[in-house]
Amino acid sequence: MTKFEALGLNSALLNAITDLGFETPSEVQEKSIPILLEDEIDLVALAQTGTGKTAAFGFPLIQKIDSNSRTTQGLILSPTRELCLQITNEMQLYSKYVKGLNTVAIYGGASITEQARQIKRGAQIVVATPGRMKDMIGRGIIDISKIDYCILDEADEMLNMGFYEDIKDILSNTPKEKSTWLFSATMPREVAAIAKKFMHHPTEITVGAKNSGVDTVQHEYYLVGGRDRYSALKRLADANPGIFSVVFCRTKRDTQKVAEKLIEDGYNAGALHGDLSQNQRDLVMNAFRKKQIQMLVATDVAARGIDVDDITHVINYQLPDEIETYTHRSGRTGRAGKSGISMVIVTRSELRKIHAIEKKIKQKFIAKKIPTGIEICEIQLYHLANKIRTTEINEEVNNYLPAIHDVLDGLDRDELIQKIVSVEFTRFYNYYSKTKDLNSTEPDRRERNRGGSGDFSSNGSVRYFINVGERDGYDWMSLKDFLKDTLHLGKDDLFRVDVKDSFSFFNTEVTHKDQILETFTDFKVKGRFVNVEVSNSPEGGGRRRRDKGSKGKRDSRDRDRSRSKRREGNFSKGGSRRSGSKQGSSSGNRRSKKRDGFY
Ligand code: ADP
Ligand code: MG
Repeated sequence: MTKFEALGLNSALLNAITDLGFETPSEVQEKSIPILLEDEIDLVALAQTGTGKTAAFGFPLIQKIDSNSRTTQGLILSPTRELCLQITNEMQLYSKYVKGLNTVAIYGGASITEQARQIKRGAQIVVATPGRMKDMIGRGIIDISKIDYCILDEADEMLNMGFYEDIKDILSNTPKEKSTWLFSATMPREVAAIAKKFMHHPTEITVGAKNSGVDTVQHEYYLVGGRDRYSALKRLADANPGIFSVVFCRTKRDTQKVAEKLIEDGYNAGALHGDLSQNQRDLVMNAFRKKQIQMLVATDVAARGIDVDDITHVINYQLPDEIETYTHRSGRTGRAGKSGISMVIVTRSELRKIHAIEKKIKQKFIAKKIPTGIEICEIQLYHLANKIRTTEINEEVNNYLPAIHDVLDGLDRDELIQKIVSVEFTRFYNYYSKTKDLNSTEPDRRERNRGGSGDFSSNGSVRYFINVGERDGYDWMSLKDFLKDTLHLGKDDLFRVDVKDSFSFFNTEVTHKDQILETFTDFKVKGRFVNVEVSNSPEGGGRRRRDKGSKGKRDSRDRDRSRSKRREGNFSKGGSRRSGSKQGSSSGNRRSKKRDGFY
């Protein structure tokens, strides 16, 4: 018996679940599905985004609906059009083996006649946004007087968006004898009020923070001058070549402006905000889902509830006014068991907000530095080398090879590599070698205060380079675990773990240095050498050109030597545990000319 079977689900659903590839129920599913199947109850379920709430109400709802009757029996209210479509889509997948079951989406900005036609054909389940629903009730197009189940999804968001009156109106058109299931990430006073007013002794379940995605997100802030926000954003993107992110701005205008600038600068970016037509929004969302857009610049309202897994970074271009909003933003990453990073670009005057957020999320931010131009060049260089190594050969080039050999005649292997890499590298180098350090120069008070406390200090700590990264299946959490276990260190002994695609960086206090370098002498994982060496750059990417002293010079020579050793033998080869990596060539091809080769 599978774990889903044990919850009491029937074979039609179990088959669909197998097709979906769900193996174990999430906590909210485990807690709500059995009680919803067994009894007619009202339920209040509190769980963060990404915990599988849709299936938690969707599975029992589908099982309880009579698909032989065409009467509308279940109504799901959700705050936005995007969510409405997402839920409808999920419900259709869940009910694919239930004959005759129809789920219809009702939302604003699309033809009301078409939606009315679909309802008329018979929809046992209706998924609706409150505004359009109220409209359709008013016009007598839809009858919800016989529903048995009403689900309020993302109730806190609906109330945040001012749907209280609409919800009240809609509920007044539903029968008294029905079950109401309310799902919400948080329980503000307004949600409690709805529960009190419209529900009868609801059963309450709360899913603990474990599944909330909270501990899978690392929070970082970057202190810059107000004028450098945009340049800082660009650097963060360039320092993370595989980035797939949502960039949050405060206003529609800024959202549009930042997206336009990014596109102009050759990034795969798109804007999502309320001034766009539905059609434009659909186009952007589709492109984002297909990862043709790597940086989705969005307002909070427009991005609400977007369910795209795999988002690697949330970037707060500006902090939101409400602290609560920050949680919603950062919850877009670290979903479905993956880890994620939430970055905040702040100016000095906003620092106190960081502190307020830390209190709210009960997690500390890591004060990070915007990478220098040289650090970015280095990251991009390794990324490019790795991309060359893993690019699938296109047999079509064979016809041209003799001619190409003629052109390249006389170049030896080393020269050829230097030239290939320089083709792309020089452009980056030319841009970045002339740029300044973007980090706010005055020492940050917080950093000073926390000097020596681990994450916030580079005094007395050593930064290391290790030749494994995302490509080997690591993210910052799993790499930290790996290092912790291998080195028998505590969780706080390792900090600033920064995973790039084929390599990573981390810090420890200097006291661990000898042990670490010794452990990683001739160290193999699955037959492959894993190298660790001291990185000259205390802040991130690597060596700094600014180092003029003789020590600096010697160190960089040592580094160059050990790197070339790596190139000869030990560098990642078939060590990839992660398939379908984001750097795959298919997405590379779609990228704009200007940046082709870097991502
Ligand atoms: P929420 O509504 O709580 O934000 P969703 O219902 O949108 O979360 O689910 C988030 C993601 O997790 C979706 O992609 C969904 O398909 C997936 N998911 C849900 N339940 C499971 C499960 N039991 N096993 C694996 N993936 C799941
Ligand atoms: Mg949801």
